[in-house]
Amino acid sequence: MFRLDGKVALVTGSTRGIGWAIAQALGAVGAHVVVNGRDAAAVEARVEELHAVGTAAEAQAVDVTDAAAMSEALTALIARAGRFDILVNNAGIQYRAPLIDFPRDEWDRLIATNLSAPFWLAQQAARHMISVGGGRIINVVSVLGPIARPTIPAYVSSKAGLAGLTRSLAVELGPHGVTCNAIAPGYIATEMNQALIDDHEFDRFVISRAPAGRWGDPAEVAAAAVFLASDEASYVNGHVLTVDGGLSSSL
Ligand code: NDP
Repeated sequence: MFRLDGKVALVTGSTRGIGWAIAQALGAVGAHVVVNGRDAAAVEARVEELHAVGTAAEAQAVDVTDAAAMSEALTALIARAGRFDILVNNAGIQYRAPLIDFPRDEWDRLIATNLSAPFWLAQQAARHMISVGGGRIINVVSVLGPIARPTIPAYVSSKAGLAGLTRSLAVELGPHGVTCNAIAPGYIATEMNQALIDDHEFDRFVISRAPAGRWGDPAEVAAAAVFLASDEASYVNGHVLTVDGGLSSSL
């Protein structure tokens, strides 16, 4: 079960953190992985690491908010590989400021990265997936979306929006054999959260609040992506799979 042999998977934002873990996990079960990120050297280095463990991989150093460049890259990938099976919309950013001071350009930048880019990418992926009668789209949302914390209004809005987009894609694409699901991680130890991990008080908050009693590991999120990308998840559509050590079940 859960093999992805020969399938072509694009994981946006896969040079570190959760995206890198997903790239490794999909590759480990046979997928051909397209590594994406804005830093060309980092992308190349990750491709080399995947090659070293026998995973077929290629580089795509493109900013997901550059719709024209992403469209060109995706068209080229499909022409070259002859297939495109799995899109993981993982690239995401955070910006913290009190609501009343939140800068408009930071709002726009965050929504462009976390919500608009997944939509345009999913739309383009869907055109191909519909034409071949199947595919998998996986969006990385967050436990923050249905619930909120202060100082991250754009992030919470973007992730709630992306969960809604997941359901929209599921209902329109389901009849064509394409599923769209989301993964909602809790607090995962990645670079995005380094400041929070280093903040003793916040670290204690995560450890005491999550029933698991610890931060999550990116590999634990990646396992959910392997399941949702697999043939075995063929009847799972429009679902948001929470991977948070029980945090969002606890008050
Ligand atoms: P990181 O900051 O560790 O990694 C983000 C990745 O996205 C990097 O590879 C980064 O590379 C890439 N990236 C950022 N912006 C762009 C862009 N415009 N175009 C292409 N690539 C981009 O983040 P995490 O691994 O922590 O988070 C991954 C996803 O998981 C995000 O969507 C995040 O919101 C979500 N998430 C994370 C949680 C956590 O606790 N860590 C919890 C819930 C959700 P580069 O900057 O070089 O382009």
